[in-house]
Amino acid sequence: MSLPNKPVYTGGCQCGAVRFRVNGALTSVSICHCRMCQKAFGAFYAPLATAPEGGLEWTRGEPKRYRSSSHVLRGFCGECGTPLTYEAPDGVALAIGAFDDPASVAPTRQWGIEAKLPYVDALPALPASPTEADGDATFLADLVSCQHPDHDTESWPPKERT
Ligand SMILES: [Zn+2]
Ligand SMILES: [Zn+2]
Repeated sequence: MSLPNKPVYTGGCQCGAVRFRVNGALTSVSICHCRMCQKAFGAFYAPLATAPEGGLEWTRGEPKRYRSSSHVLRGFCGECGTPLTYEAPDGVALAIGAFDDPASVAPTRQWGIEAKLPYVDALPALPASPTEADGDATFLADLVSCQHPDHDTESWPPKERT
């Protein structure tokens, strides 16, 4: 149960082998432009939300970890590769895109701007279309998703698919 003063967040990797639960309010929500975060996420920057101390629970599986520096571990799903954590001595931050409801986890500040890629600020001005507008991607018509749904499941993947 979720109360306004004690929120609960859930999430996990794309394949569903790793699932997490955060009990309590996130203590910081940010994006990091640093070069290490770019690499770890394979992205322009890392979107990260820090769990309250003692508030993070791995409810299915656990991430594999790569030591990216003397003080930091990067967690990711060993099955599908989804980036999941930034683990530093002062806390564990989770990848915002891995949350079941990432829209509820809005960043409030930026870090690592010395490494910000030069085109990042121009991205919102690029031509924009919904997925289905890509008429060349005819395979989309009968596509079946293997992605874990955005909620906890009793078991995964569904039996009929294994
Ligand atoms: Zn996975
Ligand atoms: Zn960073």
